[in-house]
Amino acid sequence: MLIDGHNRKVNYLRISVTERCNFRCQYCMPEKPFSWVPHENLLSYEDLFLFVKASIDEGITKIRLTGGEPLLRKNLHTFVKMIHDYAPSIDLAITTNAFLLPHYAQDLKDAGLTRLNISLDSLKKETAHYIAKKDVLDEVLAGIEAADKVGLKIKINCVPLKDVNDSEIIDLLEFCRDKNYEIRFIEFMENSHATVKQGLDSKEIQAIIAQKYKFTKTQKEGNSPSQSYMLEDGYKFGIIEPHLDDFCSDCNRIRLTAEGYLIPCLYFEDALSIADAIKKKDINEAVNILKNVLKNKPEKNKWGEENTSTRAFYETGG
Ligand code: SAM
Ligand code: SF4
Repeated sequence: MLIDGHNRKVNYLRISVTERCNFRCQYCMPEKPFSWVPHENLLSYEDLFLFVKASIDEGITKIRLTGGEPLLRKNLHTFVKMIHDYAPSIDLAITTNAFLLPHYAQDLKDAGLTRLNISLDSLKKETAHYIAKKDVLDEVLAGIEAADKVGLKIKINCVPLKDVNDSEIIDLLEFCRDKNYEIRFIEFMENSHATVKQGLDSKEIQAIIAQKYKFTKTQKEGNSPSQSYMLEDGYKFGIIEPHLDDFCSDCNRIRLTAEGYLIPCLYFEDALSIADAIKKKDINEAVNILKNVLKNKPEKNKWGEENTSTRAFYETGG
């Protein structure tokens, strides 16, 4: 079992398989300049898998593949299959913008994937274009449909932004309720790479939903950062509320970047690399580094101090 320096059980590994992206979402990435990690610095699937196996053996039970846009990494389904074949009971999912899903949904399903978290911020073509800085909505909706068709379970993530997509909160909720997808609204987290400045907080999101629906707060599920709410008809939606002070108390996650940095917290600059250890196939050393990073995982993020972060979400995987 993996325990951090503050006695929290860590069982959730988020792997950013690439920091590159085909979108430029205003809350996540600047349009330029970029200094992408050179391809030769990326850990291969084989290298990543060595670490994944060791982490599963140490107690990781939940893995997310994210990015950047994870589907930009060639043959992601082969990595999914490696993980699934090694530990079929692992809770494995991908977080994606869905643009490339029409091409890959079937391969991912065949590789053993059962579910996806998909970012969908607007159902209006112009607004989706404005947020992603690219005309994306048709492909995103086709991607969601393709995933649904092959039987992948879908959760939708949406970041409500002031005067951008906040008028669509109810439309997005109803779209997801009709399709039987859970939707989670994520409070915009300030960071120095974002080109928008203002998101809606949980209270503002709730106030908008309350204009049309009655809902109640329900029990939080496990260590999920998402607070669940239920409409009167039983449909459940979530709000991820990082601006609330209790976000860190039961944090169970550790993040690995495509280059091999282990990051203990989104809003904390320290990180250690497992790249050399993994390339030498020194698994014991990689596990020691993991335990070291966990020992130094901060009790609380450092966000409160400056209310922003220089660490990019597209690098850490959000
Ligand atoms: N490209 C994929 C996607 O968009 O789903 C995966 C990577 S993205 C960095 C992972 C998640 O982080 C997405 O749900 C996105 O909405 C969220 N995210 C990115 N920047 C954010 C910010 N500043 N505040 C809150 N959520 C953010
Ligand atoms: Fe790309 Fe996802 Fe960031 Fe949007 S949120 S720019 S899709 S990594």
